[in-house]
Amino acid sequence: MSTKHYDVIVIGSGAAGGRIASRCHKAGRTVALIEHDGFGGTCPLRGCEPKKMMVDVIQTAERLHNSAGLGVVGQAHIDWQELMAFKRSFTDTISDKIEAIHAKNGVDIHKGRARFTGPNTVDTGSAILEGERICIATGAVPRTLDIPGGEHAVTSDDFLELAALPERIVFIGGGFIAFEMAHIAAAAGADVTIVHRSSRVLRPFDADLAQRLMDHMRSQGVTILTDLPPHSITAEDGGVVLHAGPGGAEHFPADLIVQAAGRIPATADLNLEAAGVATDKGAVTVDHSLRSTTNPAVFAAGDVITGGMPLTPVAAKEADTVIHNLLSNTPQAMEYGPIPYALFTYPPLAAVGLLEEQAAAQGRTVDIVTGDASGWSEYERIGQKCAGFKLIIDADNRQLLGAHVLGDAAEEMVNLFALAMRTKVSIDDLRSMLWAYPSFGYAMKYMFR
Ligand SMILES: Cc1cc2nc3c(=O)[nH]c(=O)nc-3n(C[C@H](O)[C@H](O)[C@H](O)COP(=O)(O)OP(=O)(O)OC[C@H]3O[C@@H](n4cnc5c(N)ncnc54)[C@H](O)[C@@H]3O)c2cc1C
Repeated sequence: MSTKHYDVIVIGSGAAGGRIASRCHKAGRTVALIEHDGFGGTCPLRGCEPKKMMVDVIQTAERLHNSAGLGVVGQAHIDWQELMAFKRSFTDTISDKIEAIHAKNGVDIHKGRARFTGPNTVDTGSAILEGERICIATGAVPRTLDIPGGEHAVTSDDFLELAALPERIVFIGGGFIAFEMAHIAAAAGADVTIVHRSSRVLRPFDADLAQRLMDHMRSQGVTILTDLPPHSITAEDGGVVLHAGPGGAEHFPADLIVQAAGRIPATADLNLEAAGVATDKGAVTVDHSLRSTTNPAVFAAGDVITGGMPLTPVAAKEADTVIHNLLSNTPQAMEYGPIPYALFTYPPLAAVGLLEEQAAAQGRTVDIVTGDASGWSEYERIGQKCAGFKLIIDADNRQLLGAHVLGDAAEEMVNLFALAMRTKVSIDDLRSMLWAYPSFGYAMKYMFR
């Protein structure tokens, strides 16, 4: 096999890798992009986008339900097959579209599973590539459920492909994916149980608002159980049974068990030892410029690195830092700034900045403003009874340190709060601004009182 030479080799075509490949090519570098699965990566194929298509449809039905007695007559129900067909109208075509854009732009595409053979060389299975620089952007994959019978559980990737909705579904996990998938399944008519190993679910979110959301989901029929580590899974009577808790004493019979307890960096197949690239718990260790701490020819970005949150905008921002450092001789340090994030249940739960306990651990002097928002007219007129907020304000300069919102449009409100934090606008300045009325943005003003 002959060796092809490139200025930049990018492994993985997701939010991070796709961006690095196209920007470096536009800047005049010769670029190889290696991908072994669909182009575009997790977000458009089995993550944010298909999930949000499903959530938005389901939310329409839930808003209709909440509007009973407000002038809406009749109810909606979810047709799973139709919903999946709608999802597939996007996911079935997007990979080819993204591949075509890269090819049209002149990026050299290699289909195959990349494996390092040396500090600067990669084997794709059908070619050996040598790169002046190599970017690892292989993302993350679902963690394997390491218990007896773990192979009987499916992943969120499989859940998003289900041709028919099973009657009883158990989700193992207490994070974003478990809650978002559980919400979709329950709203579409399944009998849903979430089983989590420890007492605290939804760790990146405010504990009080997470509790409020859990109470709401329970009132909607979702069973949520904590302090039950998974013990084993058995196949019985055409279904599956999760055994959890000490000695597997608690039994949860189901038609489907979804392992939604975390994702791990996708580095197992890369043969990183050959490249001299160090990892920590599977994640590529990088310095402030996102360069490998042990191989100066290698950069990395996205879910595969240590540090940043596993989110699409974070992967894209890390990609921008890598691009700068590949193209310039003046290294730039990765600066995240405030990172807004959202749990797309209904209602959504969203956050930016510090949690109350983090502010306390940092010894900050803070004012905490918190409340129930369900009585605000913005929520009353759509029948939303589950809404609340918590702001963490620096007591000295009145700037926001953290904002946590539960309720419709929470994800948009935290975007605005992130802007306020980034630009260091005080809570008093926010209050004095004019906001379009009536709107959820205006409703934020009620929090500043
Ligand atoms: C169910 C779900 C819902 C999510 N929802 C959200 C959300 O609402 N908002 C949000 O911000 N984030 C969300 N995320 C997270 C988001 O999808 C990721 O943070 C983002 O996709 C990371 O981008 P990346 O480029 O690092 O990796 P990826 O997008 O995973 O891309 C990595 C690519 O590398 C390829 N690859 C891996 N190994 C190799 C190899 N050896 N050779 C060749 N190619 C390889 C993979 O096939 C993949 O295409 C969600 C994730 C999941 C799973």
